[in-house]
Amino acid sequence: MSTNPSMIPRPPPSAQTPAWQRALAQAITDPLELLRRLDLPPEPGPGTLQAHRGFRTLVPESYLARMRRGDPRDPLLLQVLPQNAEVIERPGFLADPVGDRGALAAPGLLHKYAGRVLLVTTGACAIHCRYCFRREFPYGELQASRDWDDALTYIRAHTGITEVILSGGDPLALPDRRLADLVRRLETIDHLRRLRIHTRLPVVLPERVDAGLLAWLGTGRLAHVLVLHANHPREFEAPAGAALAKLRASEVTLLNQAVLLAGVNDDPDTLCELQQAGFAAGVLPYYLHLLDRARGTGHFEVDERRARALHAMLRERLPGYLVPRLVREIAGAPSKVPVPDDRDKPAGIDPARVGKARAFSIR
Ligand SMILES: *Cc1c(COP(=O)(O)O)cnc(C)c1O
Ligand code: SF4
Repeated sequence: MSTNPSMIPRPPPSAQTPAWQRALAQAITDPLELLRRLDLPPEPGPGTLQAHRGFRTLVPESYLARMRRGDPRDPLLLQVLPQNAEVIERPGFLADPVGDRGALAAPGLLHKYAGRVLLVTTGACAIHCRYCFRREFPYGELQASRDWDDALTYIRAHTGITEVILSGGDPLALPDRRLADLVRRLETIDHLRRLRIHTRLPVVLPERVDAGLLAWLGTGRLAHVLVLHANHPREFEAPAGAALAKLRASEVTLLNQAVLLAGVNDDPDTLCELQQAGFAAGVLPYYLHLLDRARGTGHFEVDERRARALHAMLRERLPGYLVPRLVREIAGAPSKVPVPDDRDKPAGIDPARVGKARAFSIR
C-alpha cells in the first residue's frame, strides 16, 4: 500500500507513451545527482538521505533547467532538495495538518466546504515538493476508486454541489484518457457548473500541455478553472511560458496559488514579481497560503506577523487584482480562513485626505 506519492509506480515508457510521460519517467530521483547537475558538492547533510527515503526526491528536467547553477540557496532547489531539517520533529507539525481524514464523504472525496467537493484523483505528482502538506497522505487507503463510482454517486446525490475540484497528488499526472472520461461523466450531473483542477504540472512539467490535454480541457458543458501552483516568479519562465500561452488560448480560467515559504518567496520583491510574472503569462493570483503544518516542513514556516507585513506590502505595491488573498487552512473551518494584514487595523484617518477623496466621488 502506498503511503505517499513517491511510492506510486511509474509505468515503463513505450512508443505510444506521450512525451510528457517519458519526460516524467526521466525525472531526477537522486538528491546527489540533483546536486551534481547544479555544480554543487554532492555532499548531503546527515538527515538528507533519511528525508529522501521518507519522501523520495522527484524533479523533472524542465524544472531543473530553471535553477541557478552553483547556488545552494536557489529558491527552486530549496523546494525539492531533501533537507536535514525535515527529520527534526517539531511540536505542532502533524501527519494530517488540515483534518482531511475527517472530511471524507466517499472514498477519495473530501467535502469540507459548501457547494464544492475535492476529489483525490491520484497520489502521483510530477515533482515532490518538500513543503507538501500531503506528504503523508494515505493515498493507498483514501484515494478515489479507479472507476470513480462512489465519488460520482455522492456528487449526484448532493444537488447543492456546483463545483468539483480535481486534486491529488496532481490530477494532471493521470493520462488524458482517464481524465476525459471522468469529465464526461461529471458533465452528466446536472447541478454541476464548474470543474476546477489544482495542478503544478503546466509549471513544473510544461510538456504536459499537449494536444491530448487540449483536446478535452476547456471543452464541454462545465466551465473549467485551472489553479496553478507556482511559488516563485522563475517558475513562470521558459519553458513554462509556452505551455501557459497554449492554456491561455483555450477556454480555461487561469489562477495561481502559492504557499508562503521561508527562503523561497518570503520577501516583497519576489512576491511582487510572482504576481506580475503570472499576470504576464495570463494568470491571476488566487491565494497566498500560510504553510500547512505538516510534519517535516517546519523550516519553511514564515511567522504570521511577517506574513501580514508582507501582504500589506503587496497591497501597497500592486493593483488590487494582483494581490492574492492571504489565507490559512484551519481544520473544521467552513472555508479557507483569511489572515487580516497589517493594513486591516483601523488606520489613522487623515481628514484632509478624506475630504479630497470625496471631491472625486459621484453623488
Ligand atoms: C481548499 C479546499 C477547497 C477549495 O476551497 P476554495 O476556497 O473554494 O478554493 C475545497 N475543498 C477542500 C477539501 C479544500 O481543502
Ligand atoms: S505540493 Fe502538490 S505537486 Fe508538490 S508534492 Fe504536494 S501534491 Fe504533489
